[in-house]
Parts: sequence; C-alpha cells; structure tokens
Amino acid sequence: MAKLKGSCHCGSVQYEIDTEITMGIVCDCSICSRKGALMAAAEPEDFTLLTGEENLTLYQFNTDVAKHYFCNKCGIYTHHYRRSDGRLGFNTGCIEGFDKDSLDEIKQVPGSTFSTV
Ligand SMILES: [Zn+2]
Repeated sequence: MAKLKGSCHCGSVQYEIDTEITMGIVCDCSICSRKGALMAAAEPEDFTLLTGEENLTLYQFNTDVAKHYFCNKCGIYTHHYRRSDGRLGFNTGCIEGFDKDSLDEIKQVPGSTFSTV
C-alpha cells in the first residue's frame, strides 16, 4: 500500500497514513457540515503522527466519544476517531497529491441522525 503524506495548512502537523483512498466520505452532522471536508477512512494503527503533537488540539462534544483533532495554529481539521466504530477519519484535503477524481465513490453519511445535537 502507498503511504499517504498529510499535513495541516501551516505544516506544524504532519502525518503518514498507510492506506489507499478509494472512497470519499461526506457527512452532514453538526461538525462536519461546518468544516465541509471531504474525508476518508483508515485503520487507527495505519496512522503515524510525524510532527506537531503539541499543535494538535482535541475537540469533543455531545457524547465525547469521537475525537476530533485540528491544528491550533492554522485551524485546519486533520483527522478524527469516529464514534461509530473507532476508525480513523481524515481530511483528504490534507493529503499530498490527492485527486478526488480518482475516487471510486463518495459516500454520504447521515451523521446528523446519529445524535440529537
Ligand atoms: Zn497548522
């Protein structure tokens, strides 16, 4: 598998993900509809944070199960751990050389129906 390289906008946070992106994910929950990122999923163990641990900020809300991370310098959402299954979700916009036209599918997730807020 190809190692994907990801970074936030200012470059403080850099990571690698050992996966291939075949499916994009768009979610309509309260946070995803605001951040508007095209996401993809991977296994948590495939994610390696290279730099920027001190810049990564955890944001949680509602059930406090999902973990949403963003860079506290440039504000860019980088990745999160999903509430539904604990898998890693990440911002495809952070991935070096990613071309969304290469996706087989873009899945619409009805996240707004998962919670009441
Ligand atoms: Zn940043």
